[in-house]
Amino acid sequence: MPQIWNFSAGPGMLPHSVLEAAQKEFLDYRGLGASIVEMSHRTHAVEAIVESLTEELRGLLSIPEEFEIFFTQGGGRTQFAMVPANLLRGKTGAYLVTGLWSAAALEEAKRIGRAEAAARTTGDVPDTSDLSWPEDPAYVYYCDNETVHGVEFPAPPTAPEGVPLVADMSSNFLTRPIDWSRHGVVWAAAQKNFAPAGLTVVIARRDLLGGLLPHMPSMFDWSLYAREKSMPNTPPVFQLYIADLVAKWVRAEGGVEAMHRRALERSALLYEALDERPDLYETTVAKRARSRVNVPFRLRDPERLADFIAAGEREGFRQFAGHASVGGLRVSLYNAMPLEGPRRFAEFMRAWRP
Ligand SMILES: *Cc1c(COP(=O)(O)O)cnc(C)c1O
Repeated sequence: MPQIWNFSAGPGMLPHSVLEAAQKEFLDYRGLGASIVEMSHRTHAVEAIVESLTEELRGLLSIPEEFEIFFTQGGGRTQFAMVPANLLRGKTGAYLVTGLWSAAALEEAKRIGRAEAAARTTGDVPDTSDLSWPEDPAYVYYCDNETVHGVEFPAPPTAPEGVPLVADMSSNFLTRPIDWSRHGVVWAAAQKNFAPAGLTVVIARRDLLGGLLPHMPSMFDWSLYAREKSMPNTPPVFQLYIADLVAKWVRAEGGVEAMHRRALERSALLYEALDERPDLYETTVAKRARSRVNVPFRLRDPERLADFIAAGEREGFRQFAGHASVGGLRVSLYNAMPLEGPRRFAEFMRAWRP
């Protein structure tokens, strides 16, 4: 295989050793004579994967017992609807809008019930100490890392006393520890950082389950997934299987503290190169809110974008164009990316001449 550096924002890079392990046992899963994707989800082999993944996540993120961990389908955007469907209960969802994904979550919530933006920021996170919240907030919702805009909360925002905080961690799940005392629900679509697309993990405080609005599809009911151990219907077995291998890989590599340290190191290499050459590159994100996993930037001379991308591809870099909605460039640095990737990219940025 040619050596390339895969900076895809999602589906993102997975550890090479995980893909190799999956390849090795794809035709014959651990001596059972069939592939893992050919087995009933009611077999011990599949149930064991879900149990193992659940326990791995509980251990890696120190998830307290009062939180249920379960897996759903339909990706991130389906969760945009499931959050209000399960939590609104006639009240108002309060959204911190910091980029494309939190804005989309707010729009989806408005289809289900009452929801409003308590703050809107561009290229920064809001200061939640002096916000005016809706009168009867059901929850406060934020996107911990805006994958398109590269805006990441340095610490969880503060919700009003007694109001659960809900976080979309799709692109930075398993990249740092989570403070559970501050959160009611954390969820993440898998395809950015820990499995192929088609799997979403939801981690919800048990007392927040069971409030599904009437007239909602029964498959929207979080409590159903908790009760049925993530199998109210056929689950995405292959995705669960890869996720379990990835979780074991994270543990073997030193856990989420190690992932956090590496994320800081990787992203610092790029931000240093960007800050060194303000004549060539432009970033619009406030320093305190710079993402450790998605680094978007622009060329001062946008006419040279195609040149820059072609030169980068000759160096073996792949998938580093910005999201269609914002343009420019974006380098994504998920857990599986070796330090060597951003190191080379930073060198390339320093050497590039328009
Ligand atoms: C990609 C992404 C989503 C949407 O995920 P889909 O599975 O494509 O619906 C939601 N939130 C964040 C932060 C994302 O990065």
